[in-house]
Amino acid sequence: MLLESPGTITDRLLRVETFLRERKIPAPGIEQLGISGDPYRVLVSTILSLRTRDRVMEEASKRLFSMAPDLEHLVRLSEGQIQDAIYPVGFYRTKARTIKQIAKMLMENFQGIVPSRLEDLLSLPGVGLKTANLVLAQGFGSSALCVDTHVHRIMNRWGSIRTGSPDESFRTLDQTLPPEIKSAVNPLLVSLGQALCLPLSPRCSLCFLEEECPKIKVLHQR
Ligand code: SF4
Repeated sequence: MLLESPGTITDRLLRVETFLRERKIPAPGIEQLGISGDPYRVLVSTILSLRTRDRVMEEASKRLFSMAPDLEHLVRLSEGQIQDAIYPVGFYRTKARTIKQIAKMLMENFQGIVPSRLEDLLSLPGVGLKTANLVLAQGFGSSALCVDTHVHRIMNRWGSIRTGSPDESFRTLDQTLPPEIKSAVNPLLVSLGQALCLPLSPRCSLCFLEEECPKIKVLHQR
């Protein structure tokens, strides 16, 4: 359920952007890699990032891209070679298999090009709504909303929405947020969520929203 107007949410997101920039709080890992505009690298790095710390994902991505700068090279790597390159990301064996399958499918069904349609991206093995929308937003520069646990948690703490899962948050926000802000939501709230609005014990005393934030369901804060 949406509890605030899209205008109020957008205004707060713009103030988050200013706050992060002034405090020099780092952007999330995918942005740090400097791969925006490259759908192939955004897709692979996003898969590597699932349940993996940014630093580990960044190093693994660099190792893999040094061996496979594009899909033609990636599809020629064996699953074992991919495993060796991406270790120690979480679930590296499963991810290596998924990446190999994706590369094969892209070469066979999509002429070796990462597709820019949501339905096509969702047809790839291991690609869900979150990954697909991140590829659209970061890889293609499209207006696409990516809701992960950070976005879901923070929007609920703000009282902007009341939802029970990231998927429900996505449906609620995707229908209402203006297109021009959608792509920015994920990187802004991932940065805020990693630096201050932590899952447990958020650092509210350091947050510029301390006065206005209702901190819904925050049990402990610092
Ligand atoms: S005041 Fe606390 S709960 Fe609210 S956004 Fe900031 S860190 Fe998160």
